[in-house]
Amino acid sequence: MKVHEYQARELLVSFGIPVPPSMVIERIEDAREAFAQSTLGMPKPLAVVKAQVHAGGRGKAGFVKLVKSATEAEDAARFMLTHRMVSPQTGPEGLEVKKLLVASAVDIAHEFYLAITTDRMSRRNVLIASREGGVEIEQVAHDRPEAILKEPLHPTLGLQPFAARKIAFQLGFKGKQVAQAVNVMMALAKLFEAKDCSLAEINPLVLTPPDDANPPHADGRVVAIDAKFNFDDNGLFRHPDLQRIAEASESEEDPSEVRAHKAGLSYIALEGNIGCLVNGAGLAMATMDIIQLHGGKPANFLDVGGSASEQAVTEAFKIILSDHAVKGVLVNIFGGIMRCDVIAQGIVNAAKEVGFKVPLVVRLEGTNVEAGRKLLESAKANIPTLQPATDLADAARKVCAAVA
Ligand code: GDP
Ligand code: MN
Repeated sequence: MKVHEYQARELLVSFGIPVPPSMVIERIEDAREAFAQSTLGMPKPLAVVKAQVHAGGRGKAGFVKLVKSATEAEDAARFMLTHRMVSPQTGPEGLEVKKLLVASAVDIAHEFYLAITTDRMSRRNVLIASREGGVEIEQVAHDRPEAILKEPLHPTLGLQPFAARKIAFQLGFKGKQVAQAVNVMMALAKLFEAKDCSLAEINPLVLTPPDDANPPHADGRVVAIDAKFNFDDNGLFRHPDLQRIAEASESEEDPSEVRAHKAGLSYIALEGNIGCLVNGAGLAMATMDIIQLHGGKPANFLDVGGSASEQAVTEAFKIILSDHAVKGVLVNIFGGIMRCDVIAQGIVNAAKEVGFKVPLVVRLEGTNVEAGRKLLESAKANIPTLQPATDLADAARKVCAAVA
């Protein structure tokens, strides 16, 4: 499940992490007022207009803009709301921008990276921090891994204050900054745990320049200006607040992916024209590979899993067939817990309910394969485009030839 930056900011605030004030707008004509609100009382008014899309890399794409006047804010809003955002994380077609965040901008003395996630190698949650935060953190991690600090969290006690202090010093925080940075880390760890996160990331966490007029901030302030969260979907039922966000953001996701998720299927839409229905993520990956090997392109990744019902399998076929790019379908099932007859019944149902107008290549093996084949044999008249395949390579060859 994905949340927007403005929703991530609300979470940070609710755990006591300092975040500059901001508001969300959806219309160009609201930009002027939002600028006025977010720069209220600033000696030198400065705001930042940020596209709210489910992808990063906004800064480099021109969808994070510092603005010094209401007119500049309006221009930035006009640009962002009338152009799709293309970044390395969106694919070439980009994303439509429907909402903007207008935030009070801060002066930045330094940008840090701070995150908590699960480290599968050590089987612990780990705090990740770097002095080189900002927009190039992936590059830093790749080129100079030594610039990334990692601190494992205690399995039951979580992040301990001494560990947070150690990281704060290693990041170079000094004086009154240390306690502020420690507070942010402790709060982020608490949030990570409380909300069943798989990733809680602040990038950048910024240090503002010293402010002598304001003694508590004489050494500068530590504030979060961008955040990203991933949540464990299996924990979602415990968090009504997150469920509401999930429902609200469904309208922005691929409708087929939302539909598949509701049916308990793992489905990801892709660019090709061969629809795939497979059981098991590994087999699904192998199926996509062998399709490519034979010169085809998969239209989707679809793992029906081990325990899908006949209804879920039927739904899976309907989702694949509703994609107009699909010119052929490959079913590749190795029945284990999933039974071949359940899959076959799903094919028969889908043929009845929506019909296979495109070639359908079916490779079935494993549990109840004979029952599955019999079902397909007896429904042959309803599925004229069906071609059985003997093995995976045969199936890939047949489906690639059928769509060529
Ligand atoms: P992202 O590119 O999608 O990760 O968007 P961010 O919100 O992280 O913004 C990208 C960059 O814009 C940051 O790393 C900052 O350098 C800059 N930026 C964002 N907000 C502010 C701000 O309030 N003040 C200043 N001076 N720069 C900002
Ligand atoms: Mn960022």
